[in-house]
Amino acid sequence: MKASGLEHYDISLLYVEDERVTREQVSRILQRIVTELHVAENGQEGLKLYQEKRPDIILTDIMMPVMDGLEMCREIRRLDRESQLIMLTAHSDTEYLLECISLGVNQYVQKPVDFVQLASSIETCSNYVLLKRKIVRQEARIQMLSQAVEQAPAPVIITSLNGSIEYVNAMFSRLTGYDPEEVLGRNPRLLKSELTPPDLYAELWRTITSGNEWKGELANKHKNGSIYWETVKISPLRGSDGAITGFLKVSQDITDRKLYEENLHYLGTHDPLTGLYNRAYFDAELQRLEAGREYPVSVVIADLDGLKDVNDNQGHDAGDRMIKGAAEVLLAAFRASDVVARIGGDEFSVLLPRTDHEAVTAAIQRLRTNERDSRLGFFARYLSIGAATAKEAQELHNTIKNADRLMYADKTRRRTSRKNIPQIPL
Ligand SMILES: [Mg+2]
Repeated sequence: MKASGLEHYDISLLYVEDERVTREQVSRILQRIVTELHVAENGQEGLKLYQEKRPDIILTDIMMPVMDGLEMCREIRRLDRESQLIMLTAHSDTEYLLECISLGVNQYVQKPVDFVQLASSIETCSNYVLLKRKIVRQEARIQMLSQAVEQAPAPVIITSLNGSIEYVNAMFSRLTGYDPEEVLGRNPRLLKSELTPPDLYAELWRTITSGNEWKGELANKHKNGSIYWETVKISPLRGSDGAITGFLKVSQDITDRKLYEENLHYLGTHDPLTGLYNRAYFDAELQRLEAGREYPVSVVIADLDGLKDVNDNQGHDAGDRMIKGAAEVLLAAFRASDVVARIGGDEFSVLLPRTDHEAVTAAIQRLRTNERDSRLGFFARYLSIGAATAKEAQELHNTIKNADRLMYADKTRRRTSRKNIPQIPL
């Protein structure tokens, strides 16, 4: 800030001078240049003030009673090698020049006091002090930031521009099982699991190298081989010139949430007893097919005969075994892509996209031939089955009714030919 033609500095200065007139005159000028001014009349007084106030800059005369300027500066240097010393020298003092040099005096100002030279010397010393202050602040800030990153509750990775790991924090090691020395210099791909889609890393890399932030979820692999999920934010790091120098990845472990969600999703869409899809999932798939183009769609309705008898006479455990057996029969008869669902207590439905009537009939035929096989055959014998095929979406609703009607026809036919239900096998 300029004040009456003089630059002002936010620093403290100690001025030591024995000649009263000079001291008063120079002090008046100094008061306008520096924020904090301390004035002493000799070296001893100056040293005492220095110890008390620790000023940034010391401006001192050489020839003084009690303790001269050189001796005072020698003491000050002992206390602080970095303090800025400005020496006021008259021509007669040149014999002290060598001593001044050995003390590392920073600036010299001619006596009688050359004010232009004085202002310029204070400017040079002040700039040094202010720069040093800034560096100290930056160092403290860096220290604070690095501690914050090291102790952060989130895993952090810093990589170079080519992606090799330069830094990982403590949480990274806790999440991944890798100690820093095991991963430094390596590519974060070492954490990649088979669950990561092949082109995801390519997309991620494209995004961050073009200077943008990438956010997403990754399924990564712990050192012990187990999978963990994380939400990830990767940002480019830039140098003072704006060029990308590396990348910062901060993540959050969401494995528990993922497992919980998967479990919720599973419970919401599956029958807990058989593991088949439940009615809600079946209805949703039906809606999807009504809007879709996967025709012909075949529908199979299957009903377990005699479940009530089994429950009443052999207990509910036997009934449950019977339901599970029926589910196995159906799963074995249809493709993995078909939707095999348990709709009610003894009721099952199957949706077969892109399946014509011939194909679904063949599948049921195979199921029936199971009747000769020991285990699946036993349960297959108690399934009444009807199947129908929709050639287009409009027919789907009626197709389900037809399959249901055919299932009842099958049940009636089988009832006349079947004996009592034997003991349900364990
Ligand atoms: Mg003097």
